[in-house]
Amino acid sequence: AKKRGKNNYQFYIHEQGDMLDRKFKLEQTLKHAIEHDEFYLEYQPKLELKTETIYGVEALVRWKHPELGIISPMEFIPIAEESSLIVPLGRWIFHEAGKQNKKWHDAGIRVKMAVNVSAKQFEDPQFVETVHQVLTEYQLPPRYFGLEITESVMQNINQSSIIIQDLKKLGVKISIDDFGTGYSSLSVLSKLPIDYVKIDKSFVHESTTNPNAASLVKTIVEMGKNLNFELIAEGIEKQEQAEFLIQNGCYRGQGYFYSPPLSAAEVEKLLNKKQKG
Ligand code: C2E
Ligand code: CA
Ligand code: CA
Ligand code: CA
Repeated sequence: AKKRGKNNYQFYIHEQGDMLDRKFKLEQTLKHAIEHDEFYLEYQPKLELKTETIYGVEALVRWKHPELGIISPMEFIPIAEESSLIVPLGRWIFHEAGKQNKKWHDAGIRVKMAVNVSAKQFEDPQFVETVHQVLTEYQLPPRYFGLEITESVMQNINQSSIIIQDLKKLGVKISIDDFGTGYSSLSVLSKLPIDYVKIDKSFVHESTTNPNAASLVKTIVEMGKNLNFELIAEGIEKQEQAEFLIQNGCYRGQGYFYSPPLSAAEVEKLLNKKQKG
């Protein structure tokens, strides 16, 4: 037993070393990857829950690393944030999402495109200009373009509210992502011109099994009604979660129950199928 214990310990050290190597490698290759187009976007459908019609998509970035394969944004976005490479990467993401939506638009497919924005990108003094550029370059009606920001953006509320006002002037829609997991107070939210609040998937998952999660979801929906924002549930994996949401006044959502994130071509097939019945 002693011997096994020792081996386990060594194994643990090696694992940690491997993880550090990997992080180091990602850090070292990120800049090159941005310059060499190693990223691509997937799009997860967002639906009207009652009719199951797709009204929009959320763009989600992936990294196709030449050595390490496909890497999740949960792993590389934090690294990109640390190094501020999230700013040029974020610009690429905006352009790519804008270009794709323009293609759909020209093909007669009207779908709202939501892009995730991290707090670091929000601090970029050029951020509003980047969004403006994408809207003009691809001639997109701004209401087809949305930004998903997390509550962490609200830490510098004075500065953020100015940026949010400027973005609203451009006509884009603003969502608060992962709602319920951060620190934002209701009073802060009520002062900002927010269009949508996304109920975090952790609450959605527990909504049908844990009464506390259920009442939390109900409270968020109530709050949304009072403060005039629309609700979107993320991470819907089961029919009964969708039913719970509809019964309690949340009529929009996304999740594996409907569709995982897909390539643009796959989304297009779904949209064409739906539109032609
Ligand atoms: P998020 O914005 O909260 O995105 C939702 C995540 O949940 C996505 O993971 C999505 O694939 C996943 N998901 C969708 N449906 C389900 C479901 O039914 N069950 C479960 N368990 N998960 C579901 P993904 O694509 O790995 O992205 C992870 C996070 O990385 C995102 O969380 C977001 O914070 C960040 N991220 C992704 N793309 C971008 C981007 O383009 N820019 C920035 N700044 N961050 C991004
Ligand atoms: Ca999101
Ligand atoms: Ca989320
Ligand atoms: Ca998240």
